[in-house]
Amino acid sequence: MSKIEKERIIEKESAVVQGIELTADWNRMFEQRVVFDYDTTGLDKVADLAGGESMAWCYQCTQCIPVCPVNTVGGEYGPRKIFRKLQQGMDLFTHDDLWKCTTCANCLRVCPKVVNMIEIMPAVREEAVLDGNVPDELQEAFENTFEYGNPLGESQRKRADWVKDAEVEVPVMKEIKREVDVLWFVECYPAYHHRGKDATTALAKIMNVLGIDYGVLGTEEKCSCDSQRLAGEQGLFEEFAEENIKTFSKYKFNKIMTTDPHALNALKKEYPKFGGEYEVVHYTTMLAPLMEKLDLKNKLNYKVTFHDPCYLGRHNGEYEAPRKILESIPGVELTEMGRCKEQSYCCGGGGGGMWLDGFMADHVQERLSENRVKEAVETGADVLAVCCPYEVSRFEDAVKSTGNEGKLLVKDIAELIREAMG
Ligand code: SF4
Ligand code: SF4
Repeated sequence: MSKIEKERIIEKESAVVQGIELTADWNRMFEQRVVFDYDTTGLDKVADLAGGESMAWCYQCTQCIPVCPVNTVGGEYGPRKIFRKLQQGMDLFTHDDLWKCTTCANCLRVCPKVVNMIEIMPAVREEAVLDGNVPDELQEAFENTFEYGNPLGESQRKRADWVKDAEVEVPVMKEIKREVDVLWFVECYPAYHHRGKDATTALAKIMNVLGIDYGVLGTEEKCSCDSQRLAGEQGLFEEFAEENIKTFSKYKFNKIMTTDPHALNALKKEYPKFGGEYEVVHYTTMLAPLMEKLDLKNKLNYKVTFHDPCYLGRHNGEYEAPRKILESIPGVELTEMGRCKEQSYCCGGGGGGMWLDGFMADHVQERLSENRVKEAVETGADVLAVCCPYEVSRFEDAVKSTGNEGKLLVKDIAELIREAMG
């Protein structure tokens, strides 16, 4: 009591409350005290941005922290932690915390105040990009995209080279010059990365066997740029969205199928803002109802666990199609990891994370992909099935770095179907 300033004490000699007389000691109240007095400049700077508003809505319930995949691997992260640091004077625009978020949306799923990192992060990152405050490896991916049309820095002329490796003829729109039912948007990693191409050629074979009337854009296709957008390159995204929409407008088709959940997200949710409105589906959504038409001769005898990609599941609500496909493959026994479906863990590749592995290594105790691979191994599965092109290479690296080589294979769902076709 000695610390309480006497002049801030309010008490009456006697007060009657609901018929009971309370003498001075018992009716004592205190003037309102300032329990915090923070400089809100840092927080205001974020909340004043279009898209950054919800940062100020946090009431620090902390529900977001245990579900944040970056926090799980020792990254000291999550919206509440960022909010707190902003109150204590952090400048997010120049702080490393700006680049740790993978925009996985797991915090948004549980946040009662709808603090939306999927809007906050791109808004603040856009300012950082304009000021040139970007980690080097991310800057390189931006420059590659700008110069070559893809973040891998591969030649645009080689974008359709995978077609030559396919066992089947792949219809290219500018060559077939006719309307198709399905325009297949292949995207960069499935077109260039050696493991991405394995799934792409498998998918081509499946599409042909099913007799789907489809075509690809080949060298006319450019990166959908969704991850660059989320990493702060809104300008690059807009330029590429406009170019892709212009290319789409040259052809007639009923719907677009994407190999990549990130492309699905861009084409479904962002391209309509630039006049490109299409029916867009992920390849698993398209194939799931057609599985019984495939004559799957080979019994695979794998115990399989499935990793839900953040941009297919939480962002676009597709949890069932990949599972339906896996369950329809003869010999496959599907086993779930604890963190699955809505609660799925993140591979670390989203929101620009694909190009920030070196940066993240300095901020976390293990990679997100390593944490996930350990969980997959614990299920006793032989195969970790994926359906996002970022994941095959990320998880294969993680299988090696966690010493699980020989214990767990990483395969795209398209590769598994192809294997079962014989
Ligand atoms: S869940 Fe939402 S309101 Fe609660 S601490 Fe996290 S950001 Fe703040
Ligand atoms: S979006 Fe994902 S990585 Fe980013 S703060 Fe939320 S839970 Fe963490």
